[in-house]
Amino acid sequence: MSCNYADGLSPYENKGVLGLAEKYDSTEKLNWKCDILTRWINESRHVVVHTGAGISTSAGISDFRGPSGVWTLERKGLKPEKNMAFDEAVPTKTHMALKKLIEVGKVEFIISQNIDGLHLRSGVPRSNLAELHGNIFIEQCNKCNRQFIRDSPTPSVGKKSLAKLCTREQIGKRPCRGQMHDTILDWEHQLPDGDLALSDYHSSVADLSICLGTSLQIVPSANLPLLTKNHGGRLVICNLQSTKHDKQADLVINGNVDDIFSIVMGNLLLQIPNYDSSFDMTKNMNTLPTNMEWTISLHQIKKMKELYKSIRKTHNRKKNVNTVKKNKIF
Ligand SMILES: [Zn+2]
Repeated sequence: MSCNYADGLSPYENKGVLGLAEKYDSTEKLNWKCDILTRWINESRHVVVHTGAGISTSAGISDFRGPSGVWTLERKGLKPEKNMAFDEAVPTKTHMALKKLIEVGKVEFIISQNIDGLHLRSGVPRSNLAELHGNIFIEQCNKCNRQFIRDSPTPSVGKKSLAKLCTREQIGKRPCRGQMHDTILDWEHQLPDGDLALSDYHSSVADLSICLGTSLQIVPSANLPLLTKNHGGRLVICNLQSTKHDKQADLVINGNVDDIFSIVMGNLLLQIPNYDSSFDMTKNMNTLPTNMEWTISLHQIKKMKELYKSIRKTHNRKKNVNTVKKNKIF
C-alpha cells in the first residue's frame, strides 16, 4: 500500500506543494484537447509517456500530493481511509491503454515514478519501461546487480537486504550468492543508472512527451519531459492539479487520465485491452522459468545513445531553419 510505502521512507520535510485543488476541463474542452493529443500522437515519430501516482488512483492506490494524497493527509495528521494492497490492485485503463500503444508502436517508452509495479503487471516489456523510483515486485542482487521479478511485494522499502541469496549462475556455473535487496528508493538514494540513462535518451530524442498523473515536483524525474522541449519536441501535461511545468507545455489537459485515454484510444480506433492475469508475470511465477530477469540490457542503453547522437546532429542542423511556432493550449 502506498501509505505503508510512505511510512517506510525516512522522515523528509520538503515534500513539495501539497493538496492543490483539482480542476476538470468541461466535456467539450476535454474532447477538443483529446482530439489534438490524438493528432499529435499520430504525427510523432517518438512518443514518450511520463507517469506518476495519478495513473494508479483508480486502482485504489493513493497518490501523494492530491487533496486526499498520502503526504497531504500526513500534514493533517491523517492517513488515507482506503488503500489497496499492491498485490490486490490491478492495472487501470490507462496502464492497459499504454500497453496497447507500446504494442502497436504509437508509444516508444514509458518513464514511471511509480513503484506499484502496475506497468510490469499490465504486460509492458522491460525494454519499453524505466522505473525511476524502483518497483515493489522487483528484487536486485548487490553483487551481480541483476534484477528479478517476485510474486509478492518486497517486505521492505529503502533498498534493504531481503535476507535472500542470489542463485543466478555466474561464469563457471557457480551461483552468484550476492544479497538480494528491494529496489525502492529512499529520499537520499540516487536514481538507478540504467533507468535514468534510458529516460534521458528517450526524453531527448522524443518529439512528443506526455505527462500523466504527475505534479512534476520531484527532480530529476520532473525535468525529463523538458528535455523533449529543449530538443524541439512537444510537451503535453494531463493532470488534475496544476503542475510546475504547465507554463512550458504545448497542451495542458485537466481531466481524469482514464477518461482521457478512453477518448484518445477511441479516436485512434484502438481497444483498451482488459487486464489479463495470464500476462501478469507476478502471478505466473510457477509457469515461468525460474529467476525471471528484469535487468536493463547494456546493449539497449548503447543503442539509445547512438540514436540520441544521430538525432541531436540532425536537430542541430535543422535548428536554424525551423520557423514553426507552436501555441500553448490551456
Ligand atoms: Zn547476483
